[in-house]
Amino acid sequence: MAKVIPLTDARAVRTASVHAVATPHVTPTGLLADTRGRVLRDLRISVTDRCNFRCVYCMPKDVYGHDYPFLPHADLLSFEEIARLARVFKAHGVEKIRLTGGEPLLRKNLEHLIAMLADIGGLDLTLTTNGAALAAKAVALKKSSLTRITVSLDALDDGVFRAMNDVDFPVAKVLEGIDAAAAAGLAPIKINMVVKRGVNEREILPMARYFKCSGHILRFIEYMDVGHTNGWRMDDVVPSAEVVRMIGSEFPLAPVDANYTGEVAERWRYLDGSGEIGVISSVTQAFCSDCTRARLATDGKLYTCLFATTGYDLRALLRGGSSDAEIGNYVAAIWLQRADRYSEIRSENTVALPKIEMSYIGG
Ligand code: SAM
Repeated sequence: MAKVIPLTDARAVRTASVHAVATPHVTPTGLLADTRGRVLRDLRISVTDRCNFRCVYCMPKDVYGHDYPFLPHADLLSFEEIARLARVFKAHGVEKIRLTGGEPLLRKNLEHLIAMLADIGGLDLTLTTNGAALAAKAVALKKSSLTRITVSLDALDDGVFRAMNDVDFPVAKVLEGIDAAAAAGLAPIKINMVVKRGVNEREILPMARYFKCSGHILRFIEYMDVGHTNGWRMDDVVPSAEVVRMIGSEFPLAPVDANYTGEVAERWRYLDGSGEIGVISSVTQAFCSDCTRARLATDGKLYTCLFATTGYDLRALLRGGSSDAEIGNYVAAIWLQRADRYSEIRSENTVALPKIEMSYIGG
């Protein structure tokens, strides 16, 4: 039976008009704190809403079929527009930019954008990819000054992985991409595995065994109720504590301090010195209280939470003749009034609230 999309188009969910936000003059000092004292430090930019995978928990085929109305190219922010916004955000304190999507490596000439962002200077530039095109692009990405890379891989078993990506994509090609990225010098590489109960939990140990000693950091992500198309239920979540227990029973682990405040992954090291893993407990241990992330969707709408329902249209400002100072004021006003903490209040009752799909807002 075909799935019903509860919203006609998640991308149209409540766009705040530019005037809905008070815009006092805020001189950029590199330190903007919201109503809960959280400073703006990270910006995730979705460079395309398209993906070549149809992961069943993210872009299920019965919703994202051949006739799905992806955004027309003219609606996407251009590289120049993204770089301009990156400068504005950097002035307000952003230190790290993650390019994502959809699948960011599908955006043509992405390395040109990375080079433009690198020219701004002082930004940690990273990217999250499904790895399908990584073997071909790793060297160009490194040359364009990408700092690091995160590769998503949900299983080592080919049958499980092909069923999850739903386009019959083999594990071997992703592993090839990871090797190419390491050879190009994009290390340390992070590998993200979303764990869904009954689907790939038996892949936890094989993944841990494979990446132990590789120098790459394997991170287990709790399956989240992003968007409306994945039919999320709390029962589908494998708590991080269970993952740590499972791996720790084969390879003893000890907790490690966070690298910095607001780091989403909780770190654990193998006691035999062969590396570390991370767990991202977005569901069982919400980390809203030190969330420093803003998200720029593919069409230039700004969201202050993965679970936000209101986007702020920066593209309208960019294309309407606003100056950098005006855009900066607007961004500051949005951040200063930010109060969201969805993961802290998540329950079976919040699942039905309007939400934006991850492929559009950026994972
Ligand atoms: N296409 C790129 C990729 O595969 O990494 C970037 C976009 S993808 C949306 C970013 C990350 O979000 C992936 O690691 C994906 O597994 C994760 N993700 C997608 N839906 C999720 C969900 N419902 N819960 C947890 N993680 C999810």
